[in-house]
Amino acid sequence: MTERWQEIADRLYIRRHQSANLTIGLVLGDDHCLVVDTRASHRHAAELIRAIREVTPTPWTVVNTHAHWDHCFGNAPFAPAEIWGHVLAVKDLDETGELQRSNVLAFLPEERHEEIREVAIVPPTHTFADRATLDIGGREVHLRYFGRGHTDHDIVVHVPDVATAFVGDLIEEVPYFGDSFPLDWPVTLHRMLQDLDADTFVPGHGVAVTRQFVERQQADLASLAEYADYAYRSSGLRAVSMIDAAFPEDAQRMAFERAFQQLDGQLS
Ligand SMILES: [Zn+2]
Repeated sequence: MTERWQEIADRLYIRRHQSANLTIGLVLGDDHCLVVDTRASHRHAAELIRAIREVTPTPWTVVNTHAHWDHCFGNAPFAPAEIWGHVLAVKDLDETGELQRSNVLAFLPEERHEEIREVAIVPPTHTFADRATLDIGGREVHLRYFGRGHTDHDIVVHVPDVATAFVGDLIEEVPYFGDSFPLDWPVTLHRMLQDLDADTFVPGHGVAVTRQFVERQQADLASLAEYADYAYRSSGLRAVSMIDAAFPEDAQRMAFERAFQQLDGQLS
């Protein structure tokens, strides 16, 4: 994968990365820019900053779509800057930042450990609960929270003048359910689809997708939630609980585990 900017709408760029298949966003205003997510380490962020500087010399505002390490461990090198995120993203990073670091160290090869150890975990400096509007060099950008899904604090960055939205990991080729709220997720996406005037959606990993793709994933997540609820009530099914091929088996298993925890009232 060649890691270069791709202008997918007027002055709206994405940059895809080999590492974690991560997708970063860049929105240009007249004398300011917006960076959506910061990659997974200071080294990754430094590389990203060099790439941003090839496109624009203007100061930046940063957004974290959510508090997972691969999206925000690169925050520190962007300072001093306004870093926007959901109010619960700050709480999550406070509570799980070091845990995330040790989990990452457990699966990354030895040669990348120093890179992860040196990360200063920096939470968002500016937060909101429901919505916020940013002025990015004369260009309006809306930050929205539609409810729990992939985490309890995923936000959407909507650029209305080009009908495009950065959706973080609310949309993924294969959704990650480890911190998810499977019963809320389809409801959240439904709200987003109803509310947002957008026809292009940029996920946190992979290529930009269409509204049809988002609708399909919403429907798949709705089936999953419905089936989890049914399985929960028919206790004999709880051990099996595989439905169809919409998601890989291990993803489904994790989704059911989280859905059952929700139904047990363990995740509030
Ligand atoms: Zn991610």
